[in-house]
Amino acid sequence: MNITDKTVALIHYTLKNAGGEVLDSSEGHDPLAYLHGAGNIIAGLESALEGKTAGDKLDVSVEAAQAYGEYDESLVQPIPRAQFGEHHVEVGMQFHADTAIGPRIVTITAIEGDEVVIDANHHLAGEDLNFAVEVVEVRDATEEELDHGHVHGPGGHEH
Ligand code: ZN
Repeated sequence: MNITDKTVALIHYTLKNAGGEVLDSSEGHDPLAYLHGAGNIIAGLESALEGKTAGDKLDVSVEAAQAYGEYDESLVQPIPRAQFGEHHVEVGMQFHADTAIGPRIVTITAIEGDEVVIDANHHLAGEDLNFAVEVVEVRDATEEELDHGHVHGPGGHEH
């Protein structure tokens, strides 16, 4: 069976950045299960997997724009320290925030006097990504999975 819309694919993957540093890997874990055509995984990787079948191995390079987006300077902004009230703040802390582009995980990148600089870019924004992927299994999605837009069971949602 080949990967196409409305199939579920189980893949093992290792993700490296342009410098060859391993950012993420399914090695030692269950393979990742995703519903093809549903936008469960980044667009550049999903399109490269179209038509592949169990046992196929592929190396996929995805430019930043097709992965987590280009780094956007406008998503870096200072906010008054007072907005955090009595909360402790330090560089590197992450929290959920409602931003102009929807809910995001933002990171405190600097503390300058009365201002806290936050960055709402994805931590992989601006990174060209290289995936080494092995297709483990391809099966038809169930009606329920298609309805939910994600995979159930091992490697997917448990509910
Ligand atoms: Zn579900």
